[in-house]
Parts: sequence; structure tokens; C-alpha cells
Amino acid sequence: MKETTRTELYFSCLMDSLDEHVMVFKTDSEGFITYTNQNFLQVSEWTPKRVLGKSIWQMFDPSKEDQKIADLIWETVQAGRNYFGQVKKMSRKGKSYYVNMLATPIFESEQLKEVLFLQLDMTEDMALQEKLERIAFIDFETGLMSRYKLEMLTTERIKENLHFSFVHINLDYYIFDDQDNKAKLDLKIIQQFANRLQRFFQDSPIARINKYEFVILTPHADWFIQSFMNFLEQQPIHIEHYQIKLTVSGGIAKFPEDQQTYERLLLAAREATQAIMRSGGGDILSLTTEQHKKIDRYALINERLPLAIQNEELSVVYQPQLNLHTGEKNVYEALIRWNDEVLGEVKPDELIPISEESGLIHEIGDFLFRTVVKFAAERIKSEPTFQVAINSSIREFMKDNHSVTLQAILNEYDCPANAIQIEITEKFAFQAEEQQSITRQMQQLQQLGMTFALDDFGTGYASFRFLQSLPISIVKIDKTYIQSLVTHPQTTKLVEGLIRLCHSLDLYVVAEGVEQEGQFEMLKKLQIDGVQGYYIAQPEAL
Ligand code: C2E
Ligand code: CA
Ligand code: CA
Repeated sequence: MKETTRTELYFSCLMDSLDEHVMVFKTDSEGFITYTNQNFLQVSEWTPKRVLGKSIWQMFDPSKEDQKIADLIWETVQAGRNYFGQVKKMSRKGKSYYVNMLATPIFESEQLKEVLFLQLDMTEDMALQEKLERIAFIDFETGLMSRYKLEMLTTERIKENLHFSFVHINLDYYIFDDQDNKAKLDLKIIQQFANRLQRFFQDSPIARINKYEFVILTPHADWFIQSFMNFLEQQPIHIEHYQIKLTVSGGIAKFPEDQQTYERLLLAAREATQAIMRSGGGDILSLTTEQHKKIDRYALINERLPLAIQNEELSVVYQPQLNLHTGEKNVYEALIRWNDEVLGEVKPDELIPISEESGLIHEIGDFLFRTVVKFAAERIKSEPTFQVAINSSIREFMKDNHSVTLQAILNEYDCPANAIQIEITEKFAFQAEEQQSITRQMQQLQQLGMTFALDDFGTGYASFRFLQSLPISIVKIDKTYIQSLVTHPQTTKLVEGLIRLCHSLDLYVVAEGVEQEGQFEMLKKLQIDGVQGYYIAQPEAL
């Protein structure tokens, strides 16, 4: 009989006593679940069979914000430390629940062996807190207004046509390396910061709308608002034996000049803050007119897109690729188009990110796939080698049953799977690698006969790892390389190397954005397999 190790013994005792009240699960050293108890299954709505092998990232909402929390937890345990904190998780059916989580790494001969997660369900407490906050209109940790009160107050002021600045401030500080210490001091710092805001802005209403996000409604001029940064600098915070210098990033949106509703004031001021954060932080600024226009357009797209989908106002154009081995143009890339009567043409580069954020990408993807499959099923009757390439967003594959949905649509239109190529970006590939369910779905579709292409190659990680870990058989070299192919000898060499390397891995290589004869001839010389671009044909409705 196998000898029971001390860790195993420790576990079995621990489990017995915890099982009743605590959600328990374990993962292997890569973050894939190997064990769960009944309590966990109940709250997370997973079945015992399906949850095994899922990654911890899949236990969180797929939003960037929540995935980052999962990253942080994983980085902490990988570094050999415990993670403790309150986190929001997502059940299998997409319901949010809140837990107090303790994640403990278990090492064996200095190698991470597994990670034990203990969680206490806090959902009811959180719901209660939120209810209280709604009623009391107050943020309990700082005594500032809650975001509900802020919304009410802003709307009142707008109705009364009082002029004011909506100032959004993000507290950013990076002082501790030590996670445990950070959590402990965090609240104290936030409270002291709230105190600084109150002392500086005196009679202006101040709200805390997120952990590190604050909003002030103030009649003061920009110069005054900006001098808050000097005030902070002169008033450092002392906690225990640390002197903490706080820095902020902030954005100002004015009523009525800039924006006229609460939602848009918040959107604009937040965008201004994020622009500051992207450029290194430490400033409070208004948006430029140009940026405001962008916000207006963004909000309008969000408003009009659901209608456009409902009224079937989106359409698809196709751009052929020339296969240099056969001389055939038998692969067409499908590209989405939207011409709105108010917004004019909305380019996919604008449309796709917005619809990913709002979740409408699923409807768009569904529309696109149906349209394309219908078209391909017809064309393939007379042209057996015909294929359509579709751009896919990682968000679509986050749905566990995405591959099943695609299969059902293929069946519905009697379209063979090998008529469809799916193009994914390197960012997609990077995330797919981490989420077993995505890789699995890709493999299922590949087994049916679909092919996968790695799009925009060279703009992201330019990693050849994906080409081995994911079922990819085509690589599309990004148009930025093609643009300087003839003029920059370095690029020529690079592209030549890329093509050779891809060929050694048995991959089919396509160049995109080929606009000139010179580029075309050069690519031919470099033995590329396929070309796409205005030189061959424009995308057009078929
Ligand atoms: P992409 O996949 O790299 O698509 C190629 C883009 O390059 C298309 O822009 C196409 O019109 C453009 N193009 C084609 N030939 C040339 C050329 O010779 N020179 C230049 N400069 N450009 C050329 P488009 O249609 O605006 O699409 C932009 C991006 O939006 C696409 O880039 C793709 O990532 C995304 N996209 C488009 N349709 C969809 C869709 O239905 N779903 C998803 N998820 N993404 C889509
Ligand atoms: Ca593409
Ligand atoms: Ca591309």
C-alpha cells in the first residue's frame, strides 16, 4: 500500500473539519482544479465531473478586471505566499458570488506541488452591505457618499442647471512588495486619503465609487482642482513606520460644456483619468475636444448597436486571398461592415472592441457566422476547395459551448466544416493557451475539419510557442511588415526568416495588406504561399 505522506494526512484531517462550512478546492501546480468539496460545488453550480481540469481563471468573470485578480492570486501563491482577501467569483451559470478566500501554496522539494483554496461565502453579507449602502447612501469604510448618492446628486444638479466640474480621481500608489502588509494597510491609506480630499475640497460633495476611485462635484476652476496634488505632496501619510507619498491620476468633465448626463460625465472623466494613467499618472486633466468627441461617439455606438443588430443593419464583405501555388482565389476573408444613418461608417476596429466590452460580440459573431456559413454552403457546391476565413474574438470562445453552437449552425445550413477557417490573434492565442476549455474547443473544431490561422503575426508576442500548443496551420504576416518590405532591407530579411521558419513547421504562410506590385514580386521570390490585399482585390459585398 502507498504510504500516506504528511501532507496527505494533514489534508484529510483538515478536510473533515472544514468540509461542512467551507468551500474547498485544490489545483495542481498549473492552476487546474484537481479536487472540490460539496460545499464548493453547491455555490459554484459546477458538477463534480465538469469542474475537474478547469482552471482557476474560469472560476472568475471573464472581464479584464476580474481576470487580473485571478492573475494576482496565482502570482502570489506561485511566489510561495498565501493570498487572503475578499474576491468576486462567477458561478458556472454566470452568477456572481463573493467569498473570503485563503489560497495556500504547497511545496514539495522546493517545487510548487498544489494549491489549496479555502473560501467562505460572503454573498449574503455583500448583498446586505450593498443594500445598506443604497439606503444610507454612504460608503462605510470612508464615510464619503456612495455611488448611488453621487448619481442622485449629479442628476439633481443637472436638472437645476447648476454648472460644476465632475472630477474623477484614482488613487495610485505602489509602495509595498509585501501582499499581506498591503492588504492590512490598504484601508488605513484609503481612509487617510479620503480625509485629505475632504480637507481640500471642503464643501464640495465627495463620493467613493470603487476601491481606489473617487468623484468630487465642484464649482472650482481647474487650477484649484489641480493644486490638490501639491496639497497631497505637502501632507504625506504616516502609518506605522511608513511614510507614504500618495499619487493620483484624475480627469475633469464639465457640466454643461462637456457632457450632459451622469453616465457620460462619469465615462468622460474616467477616460481622462485612464489617459493620464497610461502616460504615467500624477496629473489631473480635462479631456481634449477630440477626446470628448470620441466619448460621444463611443456612447452613441453603444446605444445604436443593439438596434442595428435587431434590424439586421450589419453586413459582410469578402476579400479573396491568392494562392500562389495554384493561382486560385479560393479563400475569402469575411469582414464586418456597419453603415449607420447617424454615425456613418463604423469601422470594425472601432466596433469590435466596443461590442466586446458590452457583450454584444456574441450577437455579432452569431450573425457573422450564420451569414458566412450560408454563403459558403452555396459556393462550395460549384467550387469544392472554397473556404471562408472568419475573424474570431476570444470572448466568443469564453462560452463553454461555443464549438457546439458553431457545429449546430454548420449542420443547419449543411455546410462542411472544412469550408471554414477561423482567424485568431496572438492575444487570443495567449489567453487560449491558459484556458483549457478554449484549447479543447479549438481541437474539437479542428477534428471536424476547420482550420485555424494566426492573424496579425508579429504585432503581439511573435511567439512560435502558440504554433505548437494550439491547432494552428496558417500564419498571416501582419501588414505593417509588408508595408516596409521593399523599402527596408531589415524587414525583407525578417520576413524571409519568418517564412522559412513557418515552412519548417509545415505552416501555410499568407501576407496581408499587399498593395503594390513590388511587394507582390518580392513575396513571390521569398516563396510565400498566399497573398491578400488591395493589389489582389478590395473587400466587397458578394
Ligand atoms: P484584419 O483581420 O487584419 O483584417 C484585414 C484588414 O485590412 C481589413 O480591415 C481589410 O479591409 C484591410 N485591408 C485589406 N487589404 C488591405 C491592404 O492592401 N492595405 C491595407 N492598408 N489594408 C487592407 P477592416 O475590414 O477594417 O477590419 C479591421 C479589423 O477588424 C480586422 O483586421 C479584424 O481584426 C477585425 N474584424 C473585422 N471583421 C470582424 C468580425 O467580423 N469579427 C471580429 N471579431 N473581428 C473582425
Ligand atoms: Ca483577419
Ligand atoms: Ca490581419
